[in-house]
Amino acid sequence: MFNPPFCPILDCPTHSHKIAFTWRKRGFYSRKCDGRRVRRYSCNTCNHRFSAQTFKTDFRWRKPKLHFRLFDLFISKVTIRQMARITRVRRPTVERRLLRLGQTCKDFHAQVLNQLKDRGGIRGIFQLDELETYEQNRRLSPVTMPVLIERSSYFVIHGETAAMAARGGLSSGWEKKKKRLEKSRGVRKSGSSNSVRNSLKRLREIHKPSVGIHLQTDQKASYRTISREILKDQLQSHSTTSSKAKRDKDNLLFPINHTFAMMRDSISRLVRRTWAASKSRLRLETHFWIWVAYRNYIRGVTVRTKTTPAQALGVLVRAWGRVDLLRWKWPQIGLTEGH
Ligand SMILES: [Zn+2]
Repeated sequence: MFNPPFCPILDCPTHSHKIAFTWRKRGFYSRKCDGRRVRRYSCNTCNHRFSAQTFKTDFRWRKPKLHFRLFDLFISKVTIRQMARITRVRRPTVERRLLRLGQTCKDFHAQVLNQLKDRGGIRGIFQLDELETYEQNRRLSPVTMPVLIERSSYFVIHGETAAMAARGGLSSGWEKKKKRLEKSRGVRKSGSSNSVRNSLKRLREIHKPSVGIHLQTDQKASYRTISREILKDQLQSHSTTSSKAKRDKDNLLFPINHTFAMMRDSISRLVRRTWAASKSRLRLETHFWIWVAYRNYIRGVTVRTKTTPAQALGVLVRAWGRVDLLRWKWPQIGLTEGH
């Protein structure tokens, strides 16, 4: 039995004027793809009609199971073009589903962090580092991707992409190309510091306010200034290690290094020396959120332990399957139904 939790019409006055949402039943319709009877409702305020289906991730998709297959492929280092071939759909179909699935996964994660904040926040040791990649061109359009995790659980808290300035020491041919690109798109500036700031702001928001924050990074000078600027007195310790130190299990930053290795092994756009490099850093970010949903809520911390990072950190009680996780367009519906 489904009870519509809110009006799915975004500009309905129940949202903007905080009017209580009431609804009534409006018969049934039969779904085209499988003939199943679906109940219809209408909102007593805006009179729009909707159904339980309106609240689902697969709303208006004619192949309602396809996104589960695509989800598996998105985290298996398969390129978009190859995914279209394997699942026998057109490439734009895969791209459209990437956008909606990415948004659902991002919203699911944001909703979990909100609940966490409401429960008083988390504590732990946190690691931040930047993964370097590129969009379209390795020399002219490098991209940085700061990612922040909790050390002992490997729980990914935040990640985003930002442009970096073109690389130095270019040959005259590349310099010419760079000048041409700058004429059409402007000089490429580094957004690295800003995105590191955003990551630490996210940490500040969900950290237990009364407890000091422990941060671990490499020795990049800006990490020291930015962490003081954003975390202020709450920053209790900041340990660093050289990025040149051997990256083995004894390395202080092993958990974040390992996270990056997993990302490169799962997300086709991040594989080095590839034909599959991301055409745009925003697409990469969308793709990243699908991987985060898998990493935090579905996959065990290691292959042997079934405990997910979210369980290890005490954020969610159970491991989630992709069918449950991708069910609702508004993940708060699934999360309040019980975790
Ligand atoms: Zn309404």
